[in-house]
Amino acid sequence: MSENHEIERIAANWHAVQHLVADAIAMSGRAAGSTKIVGVSKYVGLPETEMLIKAGCKTLGESRPQALWSKAESNLLSSDVQWHLIGHLQRNKIRRLLRHSVVIESIDSQRTLNAVAEISHQQQLTTQVLLEVNISGDEKKTGFAPEEMPQLMQNLPVNGIAVLGLMAMAGWGTDPDEARAQFEKTRLLRDRLRAESGLELKELSMGMSGDFPAAIAEGATIVRIGSRLFEGIR
Ligand SMILES: *Cc1c(COP(=O)(O)O)cnc(C)c1O
Repeated sequence: MSENHEIERIAANWHAVQHLVADAIAMSGRAAGSTKIVGVSKYVGLPETEMLIKAGCKTLGESRPQALWSKAESNLLSSDVQWHLIGHLQRNKIRRLLRHSVVIESIDSQRTLNAVAEISHQQQLTTQVLLEVNISGDEKKTGFAPEEMPQLMQNLPVNGIAVLGLMAMAGWGTDPDEARAQFEKTRLLRDRLRAESGLELKELSMGMSGDFPAAIAEGATIVRIGSRLFEGIR
């Protein structure tokens, strides 16, 4: 496929996804623009990532810290990108990651949370984080068990982080009704934690290429879309 075709294809995919997201928001009776799209660029290299940015997607997600910082540090990409980390973070990767003002969506343990808070505070930063919930209960998935979250909320580090909300994924191979039930569970958990903690917890990051309309219907404020954006590219 020629480069021009790739540019056109990625732009068309981006516009299609924006329309589908807007439709899902309207169908749910929610306010226009109330769900942000994170374009997940983990499947592609720098050229295609730049094509997506040029098409208008300015919030990008990567699941590996090294991939995120190598893209963020590349001169080949437009610099006005807000990066989100959406995969597991080892503690020895935190320092370098924090150079890039990332939103860390995938805080999956108290130790990681504490380490991010500490390093961030040392650097006089306040890092925006989401707490990843293992809502499907799938043992192979990362994230906090829903039942451990009330306790966690009482032990949040005071400095260095701002907890914006929750991130969750539907379990592997769940059918659409079951995925929607898991998104609803995530929202209800958020509502409960909000009431107990007094924190706003306004972000609910849930929904991917295969299930984002259901997530939006259940109140997702962030959807993380990857494969749909690169359809037809390779
Ligand atoms: C890869 C990934 C996505 C994007 O998934 P698609 O189905 O390709 O849209 C979203 N969230 C997380 C955590 C991911 O790892």
